[in-house]
Amino acid sequence: MKNDCIFCAIAAGEIPSFKVYEDDVVVAYLDINPVSEGHTLVIPKKHTEGLLDTPDETLAAVVARVKLVAAHLKKVLPCDGFNIAQNNGEVAGQTVKHVHFHIVPRYKGDDPLVFKGAKGDMERLAALAARLAMPR
Ligand code: AMP
Ligand code: ZN
Repeated sequence: MKNDCIFCAIAAGEIPSFKVYEDDVVVAYLDINPVSEGHTLVIPKKHTEGLLDTPDETLAAVVARVKLVAAHLKKVLPCDGFNIAQNNGEVAGQTVKHVHFHIVPRYKGDDPLVFKGAKGDMERLAALAARLAMPR
């Protein structure tokens, strides 16, 4: 766990999150500034900064969970499709330096090029996380 890393603190359960899924390798939780309804982040519990310093085995395990969570979101939300985004470096829009994958659900009429989020309503996010909670 890296000191001062907010996603490490979430993974350790030290600060709350709108959790959707957790197992030994990953935690998935709603983004608090969602781009769309159900916008979810999937992170490995073990800290690395981005794609390039994350071991291949970890990436393989995390992407398998991204698939699992995306399939669940598609069915339960339901959404019509989704984007996976993974930003590396400030110039690429990375604001949190703990590797993470965005699952951005898309609905008919959405502009698929828009990745700008807006501050979410906390009560709404809590209710949505409860509705989307997945068994291990
Ligand atoms: P990126 O811009 O790819 O680094 O994405 C970081 C994302 O983390 C942003 O979309 C933020 O809205 C989101 N975020 C930051 N802090 C939290 C938090 N405590 N819980 C959930 N999402 C967060
Ligand atoms: Zn971290």
